Amino acid sequence: MMIIDIRKLNAQKKYSGSMEFDYSAPETLIEIPFVKFSAPVKVAFEYELYEDDSLEIRGTVSYRLEGQCSRCLKDAFAEIVGELDAYFEPRKDYEDYGYTNGVVDLTKAVEDAVMASMPFTLSCGEDCKELSYKQ
Ligand SMILES: [Zn+2]
Repeated sequence: MMIIDIRKLNAQKKYSGSMEFDYSAPETLIEIPFVKFSAPVKVAFEYELYEDDSLEIRGTVSYRLEGQCSRCLKDAFAEIVGELDAYFEPRKDYEDYGYTNGVVDLTKAVEDAVMASMPFTLSCGEDCKELSYKQ
């Protein structure tokens, strides 16, 4: 679980810092056929906790996809780095990312960052990419 305990950070006066998580992301985030995550998604970010208990995080989600080239079906992989940029408000109905009971769950923000950075196809290499452009 990717959880940030706001009460703990306040108690320890850790109002800023950096954190890292490994997230075993569900395969349902991938829309490319015959492709999966090679390993858990690496989540790394700097955080800032404000006086009103809102929390801002800025960092990256990094992951490796492996599977079959979307064009020729040869083995292919890709290293992806996506931007993770989220703001959490201590109320439930907040339209972006809300949280309650002093605990921020990062799952939705991380999944959004993974989906936003997800390529539409996987390619085995430059040659194959060129071919598809010519069509
Ligand atoms: Zn290919």
